[in-house]
Amino acid sequence: MDVKRLRRGVRAFSKFEHPDFYVIENDRGINRVLDERFHSNFLLVSGPTATSQIAEKMGEQIISEGKHTVVGHEVVHRAQLSEAERIARLAKEKEAYIMGVGAGKVSVDVGIASNITGEETAIMPTAPTGTYIESKILSIQHDGSRTTEIVGNVIYILNKQRLFESPFGLILRGAGDELAILSAQKDWKLATELGKYVDFPYDASIAEKNAHYPKLIREDLFEIRDRISSGSVMNGDSNLPKLRNHVIDGVVESGVIATEKLAKYGRATTIPFSGDEHHYAHALEDLVSHDLYEESGHGIVVAEGYVLMEAFDGNPEALDIRNALLTNGFSVNIPRRYKVQALLSVPQYEARRGRYGRLRHAAATGKLAEPYVKELVAKFELSLQSPTAPIN
Ligand SMILES: [Zn+2]
Repeated sequence: MDVKRLRRGVRAFSKFEHPDFYVIENDRGINRVLDERFHSNFLLVSGPTATSQIAEKMGEQIISEGKHTVVGHEVVHRAQLSEAERIARLAKEKEAYIMGVGAGKVSVDVGIASNITGEETAIMPTAPTGTYIESKILSIQHDGSRTTEIVGNVIYILNKQRLFESPFGLILRGAGDELAILSAQKDWKLATELGKYVDFPYDASIAEKNAHYPKLIREDLFEIRDRISSGSVMNGDSNLPKLRNHVIDGVVESGVIATEKLAKYGRATTIPFSGDEHHYAHALEDLVSHDLYEESGHGIVVAEGYVLMEAFDGNPEALDIRNALLTNGFSVNIPRRYKVQALLSVPQYEARRGRYGRLRHAAATGKLAEPYVKELVAKFELSLQSPTAPIN
């Protein structure tokens, strides 16, 4: 199946007619959700490593009460259309519901598989990486190019204990995706003021609710920076429960907003969660190798996008925010020339996707000049290269 056909066949499951977002405290809550929404066999889908072990544990939990059966466990290696198709085919053959366990590629592959089968699918994320939890709108790479906005028919099950136990590096990525909300809201507001999003205008009450945890996370990161400076915690210390809890609660809150508060608009959208900081990250992702991008990871790159956009806005705290993130271990070790190129390409990227943000507006008004962008990246990137180092 090619992408065009898939996109034509996309089903509109974004009406929020049913609750499709569950929060459970720990593994034992899983059967309550499955009893309510599914009554059948399950095909487990996970990533290859840690999530595979968690999937096995969930499988044991699912069959423990004797009401449901697990017909198999498949591992996916990439967010790829071919993987999604393979999972969809297996689920049909085995007459099973798909239950994805994992984040990132698992969410994408399973979400798209659900679109192909037309059946509801459950995903239990194992890391608080916001993007895929925030929305049912998925993007996937196929033949080297990115398709956009494929809608999955997905029920998210947020298992708070499993999220809390994520490796610290994934907590930081989740923190980055939460910070992105603070940036995305500015693009949403600007676009609305310019009359660009008439079907989805800026909503101050949603924005305020959505910014609650991101603001706390920003304070936490400053506080941790001070504690690292005074030697009371180590950089990368995993014993930072306040930050962990704020990231988990923020992801849950974003999910609630995405599924409940936006319901009145009758469609799913990533607009309140994803603005120019995300467009920057996606543009950069398209410029460099998959492995190089993944070394930093989506949440960390959007955090860099957040800092760059704060600097772009002239926020006098931008450098302080950048330094606090660096001290906390945020780092994007991608050559500076790609970052410059990515930032400059955001306006075209937005135009292709029907989005409007600060960078597209700057380009439209002649305020996105290359020398300025080079200076901005050199001074505010999340990397320890000297601002005066040659652009490499
Ligand atoms: Zn994101």
